[in-house]
Amino acid sequence: MNFAVAETGGVVVCTNEGNADIGISLPPLHIACLGIEKLIPRWADLAVFTRLLARNATGQPVTTYTSHFHGPLPGGELHYVLVDNGRSTLRANDVFRESLCCIRCGACLNTCPVYRRSGGYSYHATIPGPIGSVLNAAQDAKTFHSLPYACSLCGSCADVCPVKIPLDQQLLYLRGTIAGHGLPAAVEAAAHEVDQLCDAAHVAVQFGGPDGAVVGPQAAAIPGVQPTQCMGQTARDAGISRRRVFENSTRANNAVDSKTHIIHTLRRDQVAETDLPSLDGPWLTFGRPLDQFREVLAAVGGQALAARHEGDLPQLLAQLPSLRAAQHVWSLVPAVASVGRDWTSVTDPHELEVLDYCVAPGEFGVAENAAVWIAHPTVPHRAALFIAQHLVLVVPAREIIHNMHEAYARIDPGTPPLAYSSPDRPRPPTSSSRWSSALTVLDRLPSCWWEPKTLDFRF
Ligand code: SF4
Ligand code: SF4
Repeated sequence: MNFAVAETGGVVVCTNEGNADIGISLPPLHIACLGIEKLIPRWADLAVFTRLLARNATGQPVTTYTSHFHGPLPGGELHYVLVDNGRSTLRANDVFRESLCCIRCGACLNTCPVYRRSGGYSYHATIPGPIGSVLNAAQDAKTFHSLPYACSLCGSCADVCPVKIPLDQQLLYLRGTIAGHGLPAAVEAAAHEVDQLCDAAHVAVQFGGPDGAVVGPQAAAIPGVQPTQCMGQTARDAGISRRRVFENSTRANNAVDSKTHIIHTLRRDQVAETDLPSLDGPWLTFGRPLDQFREVLAAVGGQALAARHEGDLPQLLAQLPSLRAAQHVWSLVPAVASVGRDWTSVTDPHELEVLDYCVAPGEFGVAENAAVWIAHPTVPHRAALFIAQHLVLVVPAREIIHNMHEAYARIDPGTPPLAYSSPDRPRPPTSSSRWSSALTVLDRLPSCWWEPKTLDFRF
């Protein structure tokens, strides 16, 4: 999950491949795991954060799929798991609290000369790069003491960070702390010893039998090695079921008590309240939103077709060779016929696997980034949007709004799960992969405030 909204209780996931979206849309059970720092106060704040994330991660105007969840699918279940794992401790720390503002855009990684030459694996941590060096060393200086030193202090990471985390200053501070405790020399020696012990444990696992019984006690006895590191490595090596490892781990850590602990820590280490920023502002507007929408759509690989009436849609779509050749088309737009079978009888969304095309109605489009909003009730199986090879969205031309702030003001977050989508990049046709090459069709042209000639699209 990329964001959780305190005001509405909803969560948001942003992907470019639709992988998370399809994983969430197929099974009836959805377990959403998120760090507690993912909480943002207001629904309207998403207009800022979704824009920041995409621009700073990949330079896109918006991620290809951005799905909003405010409840389970009909007949399904939705559970949230809020993960602390040291975050509440960081929150109580005046120096490192800001590092929890990270939205995981990756911009600091992309600019860092050390990361660019050494790659992610060299950090030996889940989160690499400048932000990883801060987060990991701030939480476990003994294990990650070398990371703050793998830095030229060029400051480029802090310059590009969209949420202005002073990463270089935090790394410098960490060096002082680590040196003050005399960690480097002592830990280097210990680390060498640990390495040797880990190697020995690894060999023991390989020859120790399938249930890994040899490993557990040995790994636990290694000083300075985190239990989870040993657990993960040895479980995989020895073929222990992940379920068993998870159950043992939660029993050992007493999961219920940890929840109480998190709440207690957060209440104890209150931070000073600050006023929420005003979201009233001169946000981006366009003289001709439809033109802007069309331009951005083309820039990100989509295609806009114009129809005067819904009745024109079949003829218009017939121009698309891939649609003419499609054997399985599910249309949720009455004017366009479905092909292949009666899709309304589908009860298991896995049956949509064969779908070549999905034609769905969009609520409205956003000129700023060519996003199209789709409300779940209009799409009985949300998986259809992500599983189909091609996606056609039919949007009324008069429903093109200027920016994301207008979009979030317009949507009632109480609506069941909804998604917005912008086109994937153009993909070569392939028989082995499924790509959603989005195409937006504008119908019902407005009669007055857009000149018809601006809608004379050529393809
Ligand atoms: S200050 Fe350090 S971590 Fe940040 S970009 Fe420069 S080398 Fe990388
Ligand atoms: S620290 Fe800043 S630049 Fe780096 S991933 Fe987080 S938000 Fe992006």
